[in-house]
Formats: sequence, structure tokens, C-alpha cells
Amino acid sequence: MNDLIVIGGGPVGLMTAIQARLSGLDVTVVEQRSGSIDKACGEGLMPDALLQLQSVGVDPIGHDFYGIRYISKGKMAQARFRSGPGRGVRRLVLHAAMYERAQELGVAMVTERVDKITQGAGWIQAGDLRSRYLVGADGLHSSVRRTLGLGGAPSGVQRFGIRQHFGITPWSDVVEVYWLDDSEIYVTPVGPNTVGVAVLGRSVLNLDEAIARVPELSARLDSVPRVSELRGAGPLMQRVSARSTDRVLLVGDASGYIDALTGEGLRLGFAEAHAAVNAISTDHVEHYERDWQKVTRSYRLMTGGLLWASSRRGLRPMIVPAARALPRVFNRIVDSLAA
Ligand SMILES: Cc1cc2nc3c(=O)[nH]c(=O)nc-3n(C[C@H](O)[C@H](O)[C@H](O)COP(=O)(O)OP(=O)(O)OC[C@H]3O[C@@H](n4cnc5c(N)ncnc54)[C@H](O)[C@@H]3O)c2cc1C
Repeated sequence: MNDLIVIGGGPVGLMTAIQARLSGLDVTVVEQRSGSIDKACGEGLMPDALLQLQSVGVDPIGHDFYGIRYISKGKMAQARFRSGPGRGVRRLVLHAAMYERAQELGVAMVTERVDKITQGAGWIQAGDLRSRYLVGADGLHSSVRRTLGLGGAPSGVQRFGIRQHFGITPWSDVVEVYWLDDSEIYVTPVGPNTVGVAVLGRSVLNLDEAIARVPELSARLDSVPRVSELRGAGPLMQRVSARSTDRVLLVGDASGYIDALTGEGLRLGFAEAHAAVNAISTDHVEHYERDWQKVTRSYRLMTGGLLWASSRRGLRPMIVPAARALPRVFNRIVDSLAA
């Protein structure tokens, strides 16, 4: 019997598998899609996410960035990371690098969709595979979470995201966030000739229409070729009632998600993977909920707070001016996203 089955071979599932192998566990990843896996993402690895990858032997090719710039109606606020660079990395590149490392470490890979989970004394089974523990890393709409009844109450706030890539030399060494009245545009350098453009918002999202609302951005991008297909994801807010049962642990977006506003999904997911593997290797799964709460605390406060403020008509227009007027506070916030 395996030590661990990981459902979902996205970045957080692969990080869980890599960490598990490095801790000496036998692990199988079950992923429903084959080949290189793409997903709607801003693709900004915050400095700590990059360090976590490098610490397990993954150093994906991309484009380093050094901070975050907020822009709204001609006003701008910028903060640079003190801890070292982040990196914009195409999801296809990230997936390939993590997959290769997982294979090198001896992680078994199965291409299959898991819909049924059964369990007995000392074991848990997904499809034909049986193991001591199972990690659900199957994303925002986790079927592991649903099957085990770990989903929380549906959220009133429904935000979605879309993204596409443009073939242009990055014009900035920071991630740019353009604040519109009802949505934001995120521009991340991901290669010497590529930038990713993501839009997050409540209404039906239209990338062209969002870009057209920012003259300086449309002037840069209007005649530039698109070098990827348009992808979307959402609703982003996913509430979860508990992160584990006695044999199952949820990590990454499957374990609950607020919003992509602060670009921390991967940083958090990797930290959760680490905490989950610790809990499994020590046979103390009951510690995982506490550790999950600890590693996600600042994200829940910061992203929750920013989402709350940005959804208030009176407060949203004040976000960029406030970041500009209080540079030390903005720097501290950006540093906490990096850490
Ligand atoms: C528009 C947008 C912009 C974002 N920008 C950023 C950013 O700049 N930086 C950042 O860090 N984060 C960002 N995020 C968040 C980030 O994309 C996620 O947090 C991250 O992808 C979570 O990884 P994951 O492995 O948990 O889930 P996923 O990447 O969703 O992977 C889940 C995997 O599980 C598989 N799967 C699902 N169900 C099953 C099943 N039943 N059986 C088998 N396999 C299954 C899926 O095929 C998929 O491969 C953004 C998100 C959005 C939507």
C-alpha cells in the first residue's frame, strides 16, 4: 500500500508529491489531464514561492520582477521587494519543471479523473489505488472536498479571472496592477518577449474591453500579437468547513480560496503542501488544520481586507491614493506578500 495519493497534478499537488518523496514517502499523483497543464493564472511567483521551489530543486525559467506597482487614473504607487525577486513563469513552463523534478524523485503518475473515494480502517482508496493518506490538490472546484462533505457555505461575493499572453518585451521590472472602477488588470512579465495580462472582477469579463479602458495600456498592446489562448477561472471565493479528516488533507485552492488580488496562491499552496507532508510523515494529521490556519493567516487578513475595501464604492477609488500617501505602509504590505 502506498503512503500517499495526491489527487490533482497542478503546482500544489506536484509540490506535495515532491515534498513527500523528499521525506521518504511513496507517493502517486492522479491527474485528470495529460501533457503540460495550463491554467488561468497571473503567473507571478512571489519571492517566497520562488525560494520554496528552489529549495526542492525546481528553478523554472521565467522573467524576474522586483515589486508591485498600483496604477489608477494617472496616479501610481510602487513598492519593491526587500527579500529578493519574484518571477513571472508561464504555467506550462512551471508545470513541466515541477513534473520533471517529481519524476526524477520517483513519484508515480496516473492519468485519471477521480470521482469516488472510499475508506476503511487504516486505508483510503481512490479508483484502484489504496494508500494510508490522501491529499486533495484538485483546485478551486475540488471534487475531493465535495465528496467528503468539507465544503462551506457558498459565498455572496463572486469574482472571476481571465488571462492571455502578449508577444511584447516587458516594459517594466515590476508587476503592474491597473485599478479600474469594477475590476483590476494585472500585467506580469513572464519572458524576454512575453507579458501575461490577467483581469479579475465581478461582472462578465472582457479582456479587450478592460484594456481599452486604460489608454496607456491599450497604446502598448493594441497591435501586439496574442501568443496564448484566452483562459478563465472562477468563482474564486471558495469556503471550506475543515481542511482535513483523519486520512485526507486539502491543499492549494482546494483547501479554500479568497481571491487572486494579492497574487499569493502559489506561495500559500506550497507552504500548505509542506505543512500537509509534515503532518503525514509524523502521523499527526490533526495538526494540519492549525498549521494551515497559521500559514494562511496574513493572506486571509490582507486579501480579505483588500477585497472588502475594493468592493465598497466609496473606498475602492481611495486604494491607490492611500498606497501613494503611505509609502511605508504600502512597502510593508508588499513585503508581507513576498515573505
Ligand atoms: C486570474 C488568476 C490570476 C492568478 N494570479 C496568480 C499569481 O499571479 N500568482 C499566484 O501565486 N497565484 C495566482 N493565482 C492563483 C493560482 O493560480 C492558484 O492558487 C494555483 O493554481 C493553485 O494551484 P493548485 O495546484 O491548488 O490548483 P490547480 O492549479 O487548479 O490544479 C488542480 C489540478 O487538479 C486536477 N483535477 C481536478 N479535479 C480532478 C479530479 N477529480 N481527478 C484528478 N485530477 C483533478 C486539475 O486538472 C488540475 O490540474 C491566480 C488565479 C487566477 C484565477
